[in-house]
Amino acid sequence: MKTISLKTRQPVEFIDITEQVAQAVTESKVRDGLCTVFVPHTTAGLTINENADPDVREDIIAVLNKLIPAAGAYRHLEGNSHAHIKSSLLGHSHTVIVQGGEMQLGTWQGIYFCEFDGPRSREVWVRITRSGQHDA
Ligand code: ZN
Repeated sequence: MKTISLKTRQPVEFIDITEQVAQAVTESKVRDGLCTVFVPHTTAGLTINENADPDVREDIIAVLNKLIPAAGAYRHLEGNSHAHIKSSLLGHSHTVIVQGGEMQLGTWQGIYFCEFDGPRSREVWVRITRSGQHDA
């Protein structure tokens, strides 16, 4: 397993980690298999979305903040329920197909670490699994 360490700088921020994950795939020397990317935090998440126009991620953040505002009638005393909810909505892992030694992402896709309660030190865990002999 490879750990990607991040230092986020904003309360809410999406960080493109596509290159770091691609590097983990290269280092694994796995030609055909699966790459699992996992975020081990309860106030952060993971998404795969457009990495061409940065306005897309700003729009996603704006809508999430509108749907789940920081201030609200939340019970959790730590005061970061909005971040826990956003984390659960987006989820914590994605699996990407590895073929010919490379991650198979769509033309416009990038992998984003999603900070919802920053700034903090964060980790992303990456595991690349070789396909079995009988897997297609
Ligand atoms: Zn909390």
